[in-house]
Amino acid sequence: MEQHQLSSIAAPLLAWYDSGARVLPWRSEPTPYRVWISEVMLQQTRVEAALPYFERFMAALPDLPALAAAPEEQLLKLWEGLGYYSRVRNLQKAARIVLDEYGGQLPRDPDALQKLPGIGDYSAGAIASIAYGQCVPAVDGNVLRVVSRLLASRENVSDLKVKRSLRQLVLEAIPPQRPGDFNQALMELGALVCLPGGKPLCSCCPLHALCSGHQQGIARELPVKAAKKARKVVRRTVFALCSDGRLLLHKRNKGGLLSSLWELPGCDAALTPSQAHAALTAAGFIPQGLVLLGSHTHIFSHVEWPMACYQALCAPRPAPEGCAWVTPDELEHTYALPSAFRPFAHKLLELGFRLPLV
Ligand code: SF4
Repeated sequence: MEQHQLSSIAAPLLAWYDSGARVLPWRSEPTPYRVWISEVMLQQTRVEAALPYFERFMAALPDLPALAAAPEEQLLKLWEGLGYYSRVRNLQKAARIVLDEYGGQLPRDPDALQKLPGIGDYSAGAIASIAYGQCVPAVDGNVLRVVSRLLASRENVSDLKVKRSLRQLVLEAIPPQRPGDFNQALMELGALVCLPGGKPLCSCCPLHALCSGHQQGIARELPVKAAKKARKVVRRTVFALCSDGRLLLHKRNKGGLLSSLWELPGCDAALTPSQAHAALTAAGFIPQGLVLLGSHTHIFSHVEWPMACYQALCAPRPAPEGCAWVTPDELEHTYALPSAFRPFAHKLLELGFRLPLV
């Protein structure tokens, strides 16, 4: 790897950033708290998708004490649809530690930041450089892609040693006067110009004259990554049990996928309608009509759930342990339901929890 290539990117990169960086709420007011929340959200989704989440989160929990004190259900509802709910739980755990041990102010030291739950070297670098102006790199997948292409590096960026060495090169390239802007400019370039897959927009890139990957015609092949493992496929059946204008939700067990989150009750098997009817009857429900509400495949990072959802009306009965009967209003505004079940929830809300006319 040739260091000199990266050491000359700061000026053109920052000039490009200054001329047209997107105006974003966490950039206009880069407090440590706002930068932290935005960076965790941006690990989940693109800037455009994160914006409404960020605004909602800030309106509800404008500062660290509010985050520390928020009821879990509110926290999960604010995160609903972003996925990786452990991240928002870690935000709260970290907020409580910061209140207890740092007087409510996120530490400036990247090492201390990294000791907080959910903060890795990327988030620590982003907070330390953007909010506190420290010369620390913030290297995520976007930045690894840009840097690999700039250097025409064919080293495997999934390898920790390679990551560390690229991170070191970025560190040496940071201009001491503007570390936060430099890191954000690299991320912005990765998000808007040096796009993933075979799509880098090299002709409008401010770094094209300095980019070995572009000059050698290999940018599209980079970065080199370890092949992903095939996802496990788990066929599932879920139930939309409606009674007296309410829908039954079940709280998942602690640990594992969607830990302690609400779900449509179900099982890891593809049931026929008669098997579904029998399963409900065995569980003590008396289904009065059962229809296939729809099918949907949800993809997690390592698992895939092809799901069929059966809707059934049943006689009123108390909610079984670990379950709750919820109204349409509660489903919309109170209970956080992971994205996996949302397509079914939308249909149910449209139907007002009644069976569709067939
Ligand atoms: Fe990426 Fe192309 Fe710019 Fe190189 S020239 S950094 S490959 S967009």
